[in-house]
Amino acid sequence: MSIPFNLPPKIGGEEQLIYKVISQNKKLSGDGVFTKKCNEWIEHNLDTPKALLTTSCTHALEMAAILIDIKPGDEVIAPSYTFVSTVNAFVLRGAKIVFIDIRPDTMNIDENLIEKAITEKTKVIVPVHYAGVSCEMDKILEIAKKYNLFVVEDAAQGVMANYKGQALGTMGDLGCFSFHDTKNYSMGEGGALLIKNKSFLERAEIIREKGTNRSKFFRGQVDKYTWVDIGSSYLPSELNAAYLYAQLLVADKININRLRTWNKYYEGLLSLKEEGKIELPYIPSGCTHNGHMFYIKCKDMSVRTSLMDFLKQNNINTAFHYVPLHSSIAGLNYSRFHGEDIYTTRESERILRLPMYYNIKDEYVVEVIEKIKLFFAK
Ligand SMILES: *Cc1c(COP(=O)(O)O)cnc(C)c1O
Repeated sequence: MSIPFNLPPKIGGEEQLIYKVISQNKKLSGDGVFTKKCNEWIEHNLDTPKALLTTSCTHALEMAAILIDIKPGDEVIAPSYTFVSTVNAFVLRGAKIVFIDIRPDTMNIDENLIEKAITEKTKVIVPVHYAGVSCEMDKILEIAKKYNLFVVEDAAQGVMANYKGQALGTMGDLGCFSFHDTKNYSMGEGGALLIKNKSFLERAEIIREKGTNRSKFFRGQVDKYTWVDIGSSYLPSELNAAYLYAQLLVADKININRLRTWNKYYEGLLSLKEEGKIELPYIPSGCTHNGHMFYIKCKDMSVRTSLMDFLKQNNINTAFHYVPLHSSIAGLNYSRFHGEDIYTTRESERILRLPMYYNIKDEYVVEVIEKIKLFFAK
Protein backbone atom coordinates (compact mmCIF):
# COMPACT_ATOMS: atom_id res chain seq x y z
CA MET A 1 0.00 0.00 0.00
CA SER A 2 1.39 3.37 -0.86
CA ILE A 3 0.05 6.84 -0.11
CA PRO A 4 -0.54 8.71 -3.37
CA PHE A 5 0.54 12.31 -3.77
CA ASN A 6 -2.63 13.27 -5.61
CA LEU A 7 -5.94 11.73 -6.63
CA PRO A 8 -8.47 13.52 -8.84
CA PRO A 9 -11.47 14.72 -6.83
CA LYS A 10 -14.57 12.56 -7.07
CA ILE A 11 -17.64 13.18 -4.96
CA GLY A 12 -20.08 10.60 -6.27
CA GLY A 13 -22.57 12.56 -8.38
CA GLU A 14 -20.41 12.80 -11.50
CA GLU A 15 -21.58 9.63 -13.30
CA GLN A 16 -25.25 10.61 -13.07
CA LEU A 17 -24.66 13.99 -14.69
CA ILE A 18 -22.46 12.53 -17.42
CA TYR A 19 -25.16 9.92 -18.06
CA LYS A 20 -27.63 12.77 -18.44
CA VAL A 21 -25.46 14.41 -21.09
CA ILE A 22 -25.37 11.18 -23.08
CA SER A 23 -28.94 9.93 -22.68
CA GLN A 24 -31.06 13.06 -22.22
CA ASN A 25 -29.32 16.19 -23.43
CA LYS A 26 -27.83 14.46 -26.48
CA LYS A 27 -25.30 17.21 -27.00
CA LEU A 28 -21.71 16.39 -26.20
CA SER A 29 -20.05 19.41 -27.78
CA GLY A 30 -19.37 22.67 -26.00
CA ASP A 31 -21.63 25.37 -24.54
CA GLY A 32 -24.51 23.08 -23.69
CA VAL A 33 -26.53 22.89 -20.47
CA PHE A 34 -23.69 21.94 -18.13
CA THR A 35 -21.14 24.38 -19.49
CA LYS A 36 -23.70 27.15 -18.93
CA LYS A 37 -24.46 25.89 -15.43
CA CYS A 38 -20.75 25.94 -14.58
CA ASN A 39 -20.33 29.46 -15.99
CA GLU A 40 -23.30 30.70 -13.99
CA TRP A 41 -22.14 28.94 -10.85
CA ILE A 42 -18.82 30.80 -11.02
CA GLU A 43 -20.50 34.12 -11.83
CA HIS A 44 -23.01 33.90 -8.95
CA ASN A 45 -20.92 32.27 -6.26
CA LEU A 46 -17.67 34.08 -6.87
CA ASP A 47 -19.27 37.35 -7.90
CA THR A 48 -17.80 38.07 -11.31
CA PRO A 49 -19.57 39.59 -14.33
CA LYS A 50 -18.63 36.76 -16.72
CA ALA A 51 -17.07 33.32 -16.61
CA LEU A 52 -16.40 31.12 -19.63
CA LEU A 53 -15.42 27.50 -19.24
CA THR A 54 -12.34 26.63 -21.30
CA THR A 55 -10.40 23.52 -22.24
CA SER A 56 -7.66 24.39 -19.71
CA CYS A 57 -6.18 27.17 -17.63
CA THR A 58 -3.41 27.27 -20.22
CA HIS A 59 -6.05 28.13 -22.83
CA ALA A 60 -7.70 30.70 -20.57
CA LEU A 61 -4.29 32.38 -20.29
CA GLU A 62 -3.85 32.21 -24.06
CA MET A 63 -7.25 33.89 -24.49
CA ALA A 64 -6.17 36.57 -22.02
CA ALA A 65 -3.00 37.25 -24.02
CA ILE A 66 -5.06 37.65 -27.22
CA LEU A 67 -7.65 39.84 -25.48
CA ILE A 68 -5.13 42.32 -24.15
CA ASP A 69 -3.56 42.42 -27.61
CA ILE A 70 -0.06 41.33 -26.75
CA LYS A 71 2.25 42.27 -29.63
CA PRO A 72 5.84 41.19 -30.29
CA GLY A 73 8.15 43.04 -27.91
CA ASP A 74 5.53 43.75 -25.24
CA GLU A 75 6.71 42.96 -21.73
CA VAL A 76 4.95 40.84 -19.15
CA ILE A 77 5.88 40.96 -15.46
CA ALA A 78 5.51 37.61 -13.70
CA PRO A 79 7.16 35.45 -11.05
CA SER A 80 9.71 32.91 -12.26
CA TYR A 81 8.46 30.45 -9.66
CA THR A 82 5.37 29.29 -11.56
CA PHE A 83 3.99 26.83 -14.09
CA VAL A 84 5.12 27.18 -17.71
CA SER A 85 1.69 28.20 -19.01
CA THR A 86 1.58 31.38 -16.91
CA VAL A 87 4.09 32.93 -19.29
CA ASN A 88 4.10 30.65 -22.33
CA ALA A 89 0.63 31.98 -23.22
CA PHE A 90 2.15 35.45 -23.65
CA VAL A 91 5.32 34.23 -25.37
CA LEU A 92 3.06 32.68 -28.04
CA ARG A 93 1.97 36.24 -28.92
CA GLY A 94 5.57 37.46 -29.04
CA ALA A 95 5.96 38.88 -25.55
CA LYS A 96 9.18 39.12 -23.59
CA ILE A 97 8.83 37.92 -20.02
CA VAL A 98 10.32 40.00 -17.22
CA PHE A 99 10.65 37.82 -14.15
CA ILE A 100 10.99 39.26 -10.69
CA ASP A 101 11.69 37.60 -7.37
CA ILE A 102 9.11 36.03 -5.07
CA ARG A 103 8.40 36.60 -1.39
CA PRO A 104 9.83 33.72 0.62
CA ASP A 105 6.84 33.64 2.98
CA THR A 106 4.08 32.97 0.43
CA MET A 107 6.14 32.05 -2.68
CA ASN A 108 4.11 34.73 -4.51
CA ILE A 109 5.39 37.58 -6.68
CA ASP A 110 7.01 40.26 -4.49
CA GLU A 111 4.65 43.20 -4.97
CA ASN A 112 7.37 45.61 -3.82
CA LEU A 113 9.62 44.70 -6.78
CA ILE A 114 7.05 45.22 -9.54
CA GLU A 115 7.33 48.96 -9.97
CA LYS A 116 11.09 48.90 -10.61
CA ALA A 117 10.63 46.30 -13.38
CA ILE A 118 8.17 48.42 -15.38
CA THR A 119 9.39 49.89 -18.69
CA GLU A 120 7.54 51.69 -21.49
CA LYS A 121 7.01 48.24 -23.07
CA THR A 122 5.27 46.71 -20.05
CA LYS A 123 1.71 45.73 -20.81
CA VAL A 124 0.54 43.39 -18.07
CA ILE A 125 1.26 42.06 -14.59
CA VAL A 126 0.52 38.37 -14.03
CA PRO A 127 0.24 37.50 -10.34
CA VAL A 128 0.10 33.78 -9.56
CA HIS A 129 -1.73 32.83 -6.36
CA TYR A 130 0.54 30.02 -5.25
CA ALA A 131 -1.10 27.25 -3.22
CA GLY A 132 -4.36 29.22 -3.27
CA VAL A 133 -2.86 31.96 -1.10
CA SER A 134 -3.50 35.37 -2.59
CA CYS A 135 -0.86 37.80 -3.82
CA GLU A 136 -1.03 41.35 -2.36
CA MET A 137 -3.73 42.43 -4.78
CA ASP A 138 -4.34 45.93 -3.34
CA LYS A 139 -0.78 46.92 -4.10
CA ILE A 140 -0.69 45.15 -7.48
CA LEU A 141 -3.95 46.77 -8.64
CA GLU A 142 -2.74 50.17 -7.45
CA ILE A 143 0.49 49.85 -9.49
CA ALA A 144 -1.46 48.64 -12.54
CA LYS A 145 -3.74 51.66 -12.31
CA LYS A 146 -0.85 54.10 -11.89
CA TYR A 147 0.98 52.78 -14.98
CA ASN A 148 -2.10 51.85 -16.99
CA LEU A 149 -1.28 48.13 -17.12
CA PHE A 150 -3.55 45.12 -17.31
CA VAL A 151 -3.68 42.53 -14.54
CA VAL A 152 -4.25 38.88 -15.49
CA GLU A 153 -4.54 36.65 -12.43
CA ASP A 154 -3.28 33.11 -12.72
CA ALA A 155 -5.71 31.67 -10.18
CA ALA A 156 -5.26 28.08 -11.38
CA GLN A 157 -4.78 26.99 -7.77
CA GLY A 158 -7.06 29.61 -6.25
CA VAL A 159 -10.64 28.44 -6.85
CA MET A 160 -12.74 29.21 -3.73
CA ALA A 161 -9.95 31.20 -2.04
CA ASN A 162 -10.32 34.88 -1.13
CA TYR A 163 -8.42 38.12 -0.68
CA LYS A 164 -10.18 40.56 1.66
CA GLY A 165 -13.51 38.95 0.82
CA GLN A 166 -13.03 38.89 -2.95
CA ALA A 167 -12.60 35.61 -4.81
CA LEU A 168 -9.21 35.00 -6.41
CA GLY A 169 -9.48 35.39 -10.17
CA THR A 170 -12.14 38.12 -9.92
CA MET A 171 -9.94 41.12 -9.09
CA GLY A 172 -7.78 41.59 -12.18
CA ASP A 173 -9.06 42.55 -15.65
CA LEU A 174 -9.03 38.83 -16.37
CA GLY A 175 -8.64 35.74 -14.18
CA CYS A 176 -7.79 32.16 -15.09
CA PHE A 177 -8.87 28.96 -13.30
CA SER A 178 -7.72 25.40 -13.78
CA PHE A 179 -9.93 22.34 -13.43
CA HIS A 180 -7.13 19.89 -14.14
CA ASP A 181 -7.03 16.62 -12.19
CA THR A 182 -4.40 18.04 -9.85
CA LYS A 183 -6.55 21.00 -8.82
CA ASN A 184 -9.27 21.34 -6.16
CA TYR A 185 -12.15 20.95 -8.63
CA SER A 186 -11.64 18.81 -11.71
CA MET A 187 -13.07 18.02 -15.11
CA GLY A 188 -10.00 16.06 -16.19
CA GLU A 189 -8.65 18.84 -18.33
CA GLY A 190 -10.35 22.20 -18.15
CA GLY A 191 -10.35 25.75 -16.94
CA ALA A 192 -12.23 29.03 -17.00
CA LEU A 193 -11.66 32.60 -18.03
CA LEU A 194 -13.15 35.16 -15.63
CA ILE A 195 -13.81 38.58 -17.10
CA LYS A 196 -14.00 41.58 -14.83
CA ASN A 197 -13.10 44.18 -17.45
CA LYS A 198 -16.34 44.34 -19.42
CA SER A 199 -14.66 45.74 -22.52
CA PHE A 200 -13.44 42.19 -23.16
CA LEU A 201 -16.83 40.48 -23.00
CA GLU A 202 -17.77 40.41 -26.66
CA ARG A 203 -14.33 39.62 -28.01
CA ALA A 204 -13.80 36.81 -25.49
CA GLU A 205 -16.77 34.90 -26.88
CA ILE A 206 -15.46 35.35 -30.40
CA ILE A 207 -11.92 34.21 -29.60
CA ARG A 208 -13.29 31.14 -27.81
CA GLU A 209 -15.44 30.26 -30.86
CA LYS A 210 -12.63 30.03 -33.43
CA GLY A 211 -12.79 33.75 -34.20
CA THR A 212 -16.44 33.64 -35.25
CA ASN A 213 -19.50 35.46 -33.93
CA ARG A 214 -21.29 32.14 -33.45
CA SER A 215 -22.37 32.92 -29.87
CA LYS A 216 -24.19 36.02 -31.09
CA PHE A 217 -25.78 33.97 -33.87
CA PHE A 218 -27.11 31.40 -31.38
CA ARG A 219 -28.63 34.23 -29.35
CA GLY A 220 -30.30 35.57 -32.48
CA GLN A 221 -28.33 38.82 -32.38
CA VAL A 222 -26.96 38.37 -35.91
CA ASP A 223 -28.61 36.47 -38.76
CA LYS A 224 -25.54 34.56 -39.95
CA TYR A 225 -22.26 33.75 -38.38
CA THR A 226 -18.90 34.44 -39.85
CA TRP A 227 -15.18 34.82 -39.22
CA VAL A 228 -14.63 38.17 -37.51
CA ASP A 229 -11.33 37.93 -35.55
CA ILE A 230 -8.48 35.58 -34.64
CA GLY A 231 -9.38 32.76 -32.30
CA SER A 232 -9.22 29.08 -31.57
CA SER A 233 -11.37 26.32 -30.12
CA TYR A 234 -11.41 26.76 -26.37
CA LEU A 235 -14.75 25.03 -25.64
CA PRO A 236 -14.69 21.95 -23.44
CA SER A 237 -17.04 19.05 -24.08
CA GLU A 238 -20.29 18.80 -22.11
CA LEU A 239 -19.05 15.46 -20.71
CA ASN A 240 -16.25 17.27 -18.92
CA ALA A 241 -18.47 20.13 -17.83
CA ALA A 242 -20.95 17.67 -16.29
CA TYR A 243 -18.17 16.11 -14.21
CA LEU A 244 -17.14 19.54 -12.97
CA TYR A 245 -20.67 20.70 -12.25
CA ALA A 246 -21.23 17.78 -9.86
CA GLN A 247 -18.27 19.09 -7.87
CA LEU A 248 -19.23 22.76 -7.98
CA LEU A 249 -22.59 21.80 -6.45
CA VAL A 250 -20.70 20.66 -3.35
CA ALA A 251 -17.83 23.13 -3.59
CA ASP A 252 -18.02 24.03 0.10
CA LYS A 253 -17.85 20.41 1.13
CA ILE A 254 -14.70 19.88 -0.93
CA ASN A 255 -13.17 23.11 0.38
CA ILE A 256 -13.89 22.29 4.02
CA ASN A 257 -12.48 18.79 3.59
CA ARG A 258 -9.22 20.09 2.12
CA LEU A 259 -8.86 22.77 4.79
CA ARG A 260 -9.36 20.12 7.44
CA THR A 261 -6.49 18.08 6.00
CA TRP A 262 -4.34 21.20 5.71
CA ASN A 263 -4.96 22.10 9.38
CA LYS A 264 -4.22 18.54 10.46
CA TYR A 265 -0.83 18.69 8.75
CA TYR A 266 -0.15 22.13 10.22
CA GLU A 267 -0.95 21.13 13.78
CA GLY A 268 0.87 17.83 13.46
CA LEU A 269 4.07 19.41 12.16
CA LEU A 270 4.05 22.52 14.34
CA SER A 271 6.46 21.04 16.88
CA LEU A 272 9.06 20.46 14.14
CA LYS A 273 8.71 24.09 13.11
CA GLU A 274 9.17 25.19 16.70
CA GLU A 275 12.31 23.08 16.93
CA GLY A 276 13.62 24.88 13.84
CA LYS A 277 13.72 21.71 11.72
CA ILE A 278 11.26 22.78 9.04
CA GLU A 279 9.22 25.79 7.96
CA LEU A 280 5.46 25.75 7.46
CA PRO A 281 3.25 27.74 5.06
CA TYR A 282 2.26 31.28 5.98
CA ILE A 283 -1.19 32.73 5.35
CA PRO A 284 -1.15 36.56 5.46
CA SER A 285 -4.03 38.26 7.22
CA GLY A 286 -6.82 39.09 4.79
CA CYS A 287 -6.19 35.88 2.84
CA THR A 288 -8.52 32.91 3.07
CA HIS A 289 -6.89 29.97 1.30
CA ASN A 290 -8.48 26.80 -0.07
CA GLY A 291 -6.17 24.01 1.12
CA HIS A 292 -4.88 23.52 -2.40
CA MET A 293 -1.48 22.37 -1.26
CA PHE A 294 0.43 21.54 1.87
CA TYR A 295 4.15 22.09 1.70
CA ILE A 296 7.01 22.18 4.14
CA LYS A 297 10.41 23.74 3.63
CA CYS A 298 13.59 21.92 4.59
CA LYS A 299 16.87 23.62 5.45
CA ASP A 300 18.22 23.04 1.95
CA MET A 301 18.03 20.82 -1.11
CA SER A 302 20.09 18.00 0.38
CA VAL A 303 17.81 17.64 3.40
CA ARG A 304 14.82 17.73 1.09
CA THR A 305 16.28 14.99 -1.11
CA SER A 306 16.97 12.72 1.86
CA LEU A 307 13.55 13.36 3.37
CA MET A 308 11.84 12.66 0.04
CA ASP A 309 13.81 9.40 -0.34
CA PHE A 310 13.02 8.39 3.22
CA LEU A 311 9.29 9.00 2.68
CA LYS A 312 9.41 7.11 -0.63
CA GLN A 313 10.98 4.10 1.16
CA ASN A 314 8.01 4.32 3.51
CA ASN A 315 5.57 4.30 0.58
CA ILE A 316 4.72 7.98 0.85
CA ASN A 317 4.73 9.95 -2.40
CA THR A 318 5.73 13.59 -2.17
CA ALA A 319 6.79 16.12 -4.78
CA PHE A 320 8.92 19.19 -5.15
CA HIS A 321 7.65 21.88 -7.46
CA TYR A 322 8.64 24.36 -10.14
CA VAL A 323 12.14 24.66 -11.46
CA PRO A 324 12.41 28.46 -11.84
CA LEU A 325 11.47 29.41 -15.39
CA HIS A 326 14.19 32.03 -15.89
CA SER A 327 16.84 29.32 -15.72
CA SER A 328 14.98 26.86 -17.98
CA ILE A 329 15.94 26.27 -21.63
CA ALA A 330 13.05 28.30 -23.06
CA GLY A 331 13.35 30.85 -20.29
CA LEU A 332 16.82 31.77 -21.51
CA ASN A 333 15.32 32.66 -24.90
CA TYR A 334 12.14 34.40 -23.93
CA SER A 335 12.78 36.12 -20.65
CA ARG A 336 15.05 38.14 -18.45
CA PHE A 337 15.21 38.33 -14.69
CA HIS A 338 14.93 41.85 -13.36
CA GLY A 339 16.82 42.44 -10.15
CA GLU A 340 18.36 39.75 -8.03
CA ASP A 341 17.21 36.15 -7.63
CA ILE A 342 17.45 36.04 -3.86
CA TYR A 343 14.56 33.72 -3.07
CA THR A 344 13.20 32.13 -6.27
CA THR A 345 15.88 29.48 -6.73
CA ARG A 346 16.75 29.06 -3.06
CA GLU A 347 13.17 28.54 -1.88
CA SER A 348 12.25 26.32 -4.85
CA GLU A 349 15.07 23.96 -3.90
CA ARG A 350 13.84 23.34 -0.38
CA ILE A 351 10.08 23.05 -0.82
CA LEU A 352 8.42 19.64 -0.45
CA ARG A 353 4.72 19.07 -1.13
CA LEU A 354 2.91 16.44 0.91
CA PRO A 355 0.05 14.16 -0.22
CA MET A 356 -3.06 16.31 -0.51
CA TYR A 357 -6.35 15.57 -2.22
CA TYR A 358 -10.07 15.53 -1.51
CA ASN A 359 -11.00 12.94 1.11
CA ILE A 360 -7.47 11.76 1.84
CA LYS A 361 -7.71 9.27 4.70
CA ASP A 362 -6.97 10.63 8.16
CA GLU A 363 -4.67 7.71 8.84
CA TYR A 364 -2.60 8.66 5.78
CA VAL A 365 -2.14 12.19 7.08
CA VAL A 366 -1.17 10.84 10.51
CA GLU A 367 1.27 8.41 8.86
CA VAL A 368 2.93 11.18 6.82
CA ILE A 369 3.32 13.36 9.93
CA GLU A 370 4.77 10.47 11.93
CA LYS A 371 7.28 9.52 9.26
CA ILE A 372 8.45 13.12 8.86
CA LYS A 373 8.93 13.31 12.63
CA LEU A 374 10.81 10.02 12.60
CA PHE A 375 13.13 11.35 9.88
CA PHE A 376 14.02 14.44 11.89
CA ALA A 377 14.40 12.43 15.13
CA LYS A 378 17.20 10.41 13.53
C1 LIG B 1 -2.12 23.99 -13.07
C2 LIG B 1 -1.63 25.33 -13.37
C3 LIG B 1 -1.73 25.90 -14.65
C4 LIG B 1 -2.19 25.14 -15.86
O1 LIG B 1 -3.46 24.60 -15.75
P1 LIG B 1 -4.04 23.66 -16.91
O2 LIG B 1 -5.51 23.66 -16.65
O3 LIG B 1 -3.42 22.32 -16.72
O4 LIG B 1 -3.69 24.27 -18.22
C5 LIG B 1 -1.33 27.20 -14.83
N1 LIG B 1 -0.83 27.92 -13.83
C6 LIG B 1 -0.69 27.41 -12.58
C7 LIG B 1 -0.14 28.28 -11.49
C8 LIG B 1 -1.07 26.09 -12.33
O5 LIG B 1 -0.92 25.60 -11.09
